[in-house]
Amino acid sequence: MQQPSTTLSSADLIQLEDRYGAHNYHPLPVVLAKGRGVYVWDVEGKRYFDFLSAYSAVNQGHCHPRIVDALVEQARELTLTSRAFYNDQLGRYEEYLTNYFGFDKVLPMNTGAEGVETAIKIARKWGYEKKGIPTNEARVIVCGQNFHGRTTTIISFSSDPDAKGNFGPYTPGFQAVPYNDLEALKEALAYEPEKIAAFLVEPIQGEAGVFVPDEGFIAAAAEMCRQHNVLFIADEIQTGIGRTGALLRICGDCTCAGHCEQQETYTRPDILILGKAISGGVYPVSAVLANNEVMDVIQPGQHGSTFGGNPLACAVAREALEVIRDEKLTQNARQLGIRFRERMQHLVDQYPQILTLVRGKGLLNAVVINDSPDSKTAWNICVKLAEHGLLAKPTHGNIIRFAPPLVMTEEQLEECCDIIATVIASFAEAK
Ligand SMILES: *Cc1c(COP(=O)(O)O)cnc(C)c1O
Repeated sequence: MQQPSTTLSSADLIQLEDRYGAHNYHPLPVVLAKGRGVYVWDVEGKRYFDFLSAYSAVNQGHCHPRIVDALVEQARELTLTSRAFYNDQLGRYEEYLTNYFGFDKVLPMNTGAEGVETAIKIARKWGYEKKGIPTNEARVIVCGQNFHGRTTTIISFSSDPDAKGNFGPYTPGFQAVPYNDLEALKEALAYEPEKIAAFLVEPIQGEAGVFVPDEGFIAAAAEMCRQHNVLFIADEIQTGIGRTGALLRICGDCTCAGHCEQQETYTRPDILILGKAISGGVYPVSAVLANNEVMDVIQPGQHGSTFGGNPLACAVAREALEVIRDEKLTQNARQLGIRFRERMQHLVDQYPQILTLVRGKGLLNAVVINDSPDSKTAWNICVKLAEHGLLAKPTHGNIIRFAPPLVMTEEQLEECCDIIATVIASFAEAK
């Protein structure tokens, strides 16, 4: 591999970040300079398998040539007009996206958190104008251990003390129920349902540690919402776009987002939030999808963003979604995921003193380390994995998420499982 044109070492670059950047992250000590497909390289030229995929933003693989070409070509023509004028990419993208996911309309934004904020605003406005909730009394039900982003309103309903502590006063109007608990949701919906605008949920809780709800939870929750005239909002920023072996996780195990014979099993949310892999990690793009009766509560001047729906974002996102379809990445994620969990389960059985369990769907998986969340074991395993050429990151202390790009081949996956097995075996020996 050609050396990047930098004379600074990994240690130098880490020092620069440490000295000049806010300390709002705690990265593994690896400095990356290049990425292609499932691989990334550090500044010294060492190659790694990427098992985080930028929190599932890089489902299509690093620097996918088709997506990068779309970016470069569009960048030469027009990058930003603001929404004060029309542009020649937005309408085409909106048509493509709404057909792709089966909704009437989309509201384009940039980051995931903005998408969630947008969904909350739409739901509240719908609550007042369509449902007849008395002014300023709308409630949104959320789930415990949720992760929906980092804005002041979103952290107001987080249960993570790091995310929330000393950032108050908090935005009112949110009520948390335990995740995957239909009884608790039923009870919450029974209390003044005329004031409840929406239920906001992740179909699998990614940041919490890849918590997969019981079969049927999402469908039953959506049906309860329908009965109470409460909007069902699915945050698929991490789970969407093929990651879990379905185009959307709310499709259950079907790959086609409601465009097939299994349509009756598709739980259609009233509002769908997408981000991350919608651009293949090439550019910040998020989207909020809904049908007309919901989306039309937003009128000119009531919501927007300077960069939202810019031509560059539109060209990139359209190509990124085409890649998902053309390369059958959803199907690949599903098949490789089955094999990955099989191999990890084998390790769990073999080394119960190190591994407690494996869980996940498609290529969104996690193993739980048999040690307390305050221990350094998961971190140390990740450091060792990096030495062996595989990058993963612990979440909540003793959970390791494994989420490689969906362009991985079977052979590469087997090689990666061998690396993980070697490292786990070395920890078992040392214990
Ligand atoms: C990453 C994520 C977000 C926030 O997205 P940002 O682009 O980081 O603002 C929101 N919801 C879920 C489920 C996510 O995984």
